[in-house]
Amino acid sequence: MYTPTIGLEIHAELLTDSKLFCGCRNEPNEVPPNTHICPVCVGYPGALPFLNKQAVEHVLRIGTALNGTVATATEFDRKHYFYPDIPKGYQISQYPYPLIQKAKLAGVGIQRVHLEEDTAKSSHDVTAQGSVIDFNRSGVPLMELVTDPVMHTAEEAKHFAETLQMTLRYLEAARARMEWGEMRVEANISVSKTEKLGTKVEIKNLNSFKAVTGAIEFEIQRHIEALENGERIVQETRGWNENTGKTFSQRLKETSAEYRYMPEPDLPKYRIDTVPGWDAVSLKATIPELPEQKLKRYIEETEIPEGQADILVRHKQLADVFDGTIAAVRHKDAVRLTANYLSTDVMQYMETDGETLFDGITVATITELIQLIIDGELSSRGAKDIIAVLVQDGGSPRTIAEQKGLFQQSDERVLGEIVERVVRGHTDMVDEYRAGKEQVLKFLVGQVMKETKGSANPEVASELLKKHLNKK
Ligand SMILES: [Zn+2]
Repeated sequence: MYTPTIGLEIHAELLTDSKLFCGCRNEPNEVPPNTHICPVCVGYPGALPFLNKQAVEHVLRIGTALNGTVATATEFDRKHYFYPDIPKGYQISQYPYPLIQKAKLAGVGIQRVHLEEDTAKSSHDVTAQGSVIDFNRSGVPLMELVTDPVMHTAEEAKHFAETLQMTLRYLEAARARMEWGEMRVEANISVSKTEKLGTKVEIKNLNSFKAVTGAIEFEIQRHIEALENGERIVQETRGWNENTGKTFSQRLKETSAEYRYMPEPDLPKYRIDTVPGWDAVSLKATIPELPEQKLKRYIEETEIPEGQADILVRHKQLADVFDGTIAAVRHKDAVRLTANYLSTDVMQYMETDGETLFDGITVATITELIQLIIDGELSSRGAKDIIAVLVQDGGSPRTIAEQKGLFQQSDERVLGEIVERVVRGHTDMVDEYRAGKEQVLKFLVGQVMKETKGSANPEVASELLKKHLNKK
């Protein structure tokens, strides 16, 4: 019986105003190539780096949220390798003194979390002349997190990566959209029949959760089959081909000695513990309720079903709006209604990754919407129509309802007249009802809805009809 062992290395681009070692804007994706560049981030000789405090603070907060040990002092190091997207011939990273050590998330031990600069981006099939390089990404602050090799299934690895993605978003430290390369997963995999770990293989650039599970499952199977056939596993780096569903050999793995790490001479050593606001107590005070805690609270302290709680927690915007709305609307149905509308009707407009944010979905608009439903002014059909408008254009639910004629008619005087008219117009039906055929009521409610073009509150209409039919 072989036991697979999996460790993860996860990179995430941090949300800062500027890059890690220069003043260029940190906006690698949605601008023309080579827009945000300067002598520092394209690696001109003699250009000097200076450290971005906001990036360091993100990593310190991430480490604190993951219950890690924050370094009292730190340094940056040069990691040498040659590649066109790394113009200096080295990457500024951290080696012996990472910002964070010994952390934990989702039951998985984390060896270290450190800060480094992202590389530029090469594209190979854009022009016939050859490969091209975009330096907008060069020098973007990147967090690297390394777990202990303690996971044993692809599902466990995926769960860890998903929980980390949510945590980074809750901390507002990273957007972490995998399809944008804002979060990248590498998996180290080995299998063994004994306590001693087998030879490990690294799979790089897993850019979706589907790729994470697919590649790990394929690799575990490949190792077992190779060992059963008496072959040796080669320590190497492999890639994942989404189309074939297979991993492929890329290169033999460098050892750390080949990177010739050395302290970065152009940056000083940093004393973290002397910076105001960076002591453990102050850092802890900046950590919001995290996804695992929030899920536990929803399940234990509200009556909403676990599936809905999970959807809300996975989408920070929904969870924020939920918390704000149930605090604002004091009614026994508020929790159930808010959870329902957010986790189904709003959710259906979100991308699966949950990173599409809607300006129109706020505590204020959803509070107004839920209050209208509770007050009987809005039907569930009307509420759904309003959500569609909020997602698209924003606005106030009350104004949208007025403009679109979505208000529900609950006025007994107005509906009473219509009920009377319907009863008078269907004397045969009324006789059937009085003879005991109660299904007729539904038909009559339907007639009231028709008369009011769907705006009648069906509960009020039904009550009025019953009253009318039962008095002889
Ligand atoms: Zn720059």
